[in-house]
Amino acid sequence: MMTRRNLLRFINVLAIALLLTAPALAAPITLRVDATQALRRIFYADETIPVTPGPLTLVYPKWIPGEHGPTGPITDLAGLKLSASGKSIEWKRDAVDMYAFHLTVPAGATSLDMKLELLSTPGSEGFSSAASATSELAVLSWNQLLLYPEGKPTNDVEFTAELKLPADWKFGTSLPVLRNAANNTIDFKTVSLTTLVDSPVLAGKHFRRIELSPGATPPHYLDIAADSDEALEVSPERVAKYRQLVKEALAMFGNSTHYREYHFLLALSDQIAHFGLEHHESSDDQAREVFLTDDAVHLAGSSLLPHEFVHSWNGKFRRPQGLATPDYQTPMKGELLWVYEGLTEYLGWVLTARAGLDTAEQNRQFLAVSTAALDNRSGREWRPLIDTTIAAQLLYNARSDWDSERRGVDFYDEGLLIWLEADTIIRKQSQGEKSLEDFLRAFHGGPSTNPEVKPYTFESLAESLGRIVNYDWKKFFDERLNRTGTEHAPQGGIEAGGYRLTYADKMADVQKTIESVSGSISVAYSIGLKLGTDGNVTDVLPELAAAKSGVGPGMKIVAVNGNQFSGEVLRQAIRGTKTGGTLDLLVQNGKRFSSYKLDYRGGERYPMLEPNGLPKLLDEILKPLSK
Ligand SMILES: [Zn+2]
Repeated sequence: MMTRRNLLRFINVLAIALLLTAPALAAPITLRVDATQALRRIFYADETIPVTPGPLTLVYPKWIPGEHGPTGPITDLAGLKLSASGKSIEWKRDAVDMYAFHLTVPAGATSLDMKLELLSTPGSEGFSSAASATSELAVLSWNQLLLYPEGKPTNDVEFTAELKLPADWKFGTSLPVLRNAANNTIDFKTVSLTTLVDSPVLAGKHFRRIELSPGATPPHYLDIAADSDEALEVSPERVAKYRQLVKEALAMFGNSTHYREYHFLLALSDQIAHFGLEHHESSDDQAREVFLTDDAVHLAGSSLLPHEFVHSWNGKFRRPQGLATPDYQTPMKGELLWVYEGLTEYLGWVLTARAGLDTAEQNRQFLAVSTAALDNRSGREWRPLIDTTIAAQLLYNARSDWDSERRGVDFYDEGLLIWLEADTIIRKQSQGEKSLEDFLRAFHGGPSTNPEVKPYTFESLAESLGRIVNYDWKKFFDERLNRTGTEHAPQGGIEAGGYRLTYADKMADVQKTIESVSGSISVAYSIGLKLGTDGNVTDVLPELAAAKSGVGPGMKIVAVNGNQFSGEVLRQAIRGTKTGGTLDLLVQNGKRFSSYKLDYRGGERYPMLEPNGLPKLLDEILKPLSK
């Protein structure tokens, strides 16, 4: 919770911002979207915009909330035609800003008619702009299907939307419905552009809605659209765990909510991109077709819904100032993503175990896997963690080759470690009287509200933590965010939690599951290689044996000690190095085949957490709060 003084200051800033902005449009913009051709991967939209004569600039949403980057799929915008009173109007794209279109509204015109198309990609690279339509389902992100007048805060632009779906499709969304008219056309209530873009629609032929908090207010729904009816056959035990997730999240945030109702919009298909995108009142969750019905696939993605749900509080309601932009054209600043994503990653990880979506042991194994990856990043030498947040808009699209040397969006997993450590510090400083939850209830809680955004700065965050326990939080974060040349990931939380990161010659079950589900092989902490099941090297750890012998990303391992490559053949050879076995790799690099001899004797090494003798605070943290 903010102090009264801070709150007043914040209200003044808002009032000034409101005074400076252009007046709201005379009437809502109407938007009609035709999704009946979703299975051909094309969407049609037409829009009627109230206007006054003279020059006008319309913009296509560029900076998409939650994606922290300029990811609006402008290349896939097509069919743009403008007219007024039946007469066509010419438009010209801005020479610098590819997302802006200039035109002149003719004298006498009071409204502008616009047509556009979205060419929906079948490619699965990216987030909401990647593949999100199949023959059986579609996820509709409104920001991809509209233009709006430049310079208006999206809170002040009203939209009345209509959506036409294929005849036998059902849908789920948090967008308030006015009526479901004939021909499977849905009329939505008039909302701000902010709410519209915050409320995607999941629709499909194979659809199921599960209530996750029956009888409670506000309601929570798991809306599922899948490529088959079989994929909807989730067991009652698993449903019970997702109901527990809702209970545990509410307990974590002191029963304070910032949504009218909450919808997990879960799309299950092997033809779409797989990711999660948070909203205030819903989340766009996209996973494999068998996500709910295959235990291994579910385990690998068990923190997906917990993470996205946490974002309703952390990210949507409380948002870093640099990410709380007034419209979708203003660039975002990602410097506090270690809170936005890092704290969410920590709380999602905690909730996954508290809800029983995995076991505490599996949860610790996930932590070992991610911590080992961070701890062995050679890029720690040159790149401080804070730079991964500032450069997030680049790193989300970074390739996986040389990942260790480049560093990726490390603020997720390393943010988790930092917040785990903060939690253990609060528990210790308060002699077990308080925990990070006291901070959450103060910072993210308070009275329940409809969706709203309360921006914060690093200073106000550190102050809020200081009110929970007196500690030099600025120094604590500064040391973990801004240092380079640090050999190790911050493991104070794991250690205060009663464990330490170590390496064993047996692979933990969770790593086996991750590898089988993702089709990858990691022998990163023995010889320093990450590769695909086909032998293609995706990354090397520069300090370890494979890289030192000359192997690099983009090469392909064809044979190991003269035997045709497979994951097991490679692991067996690594195992054999302990008893004097050699490690000769036959490697294809383009047209050339070469032999690489590795200087390595250490056998297999896989990450695990082992007890360090201290009380197991980590296990306490993962215990359910709710009854
Ligand atoms: Zn997130």
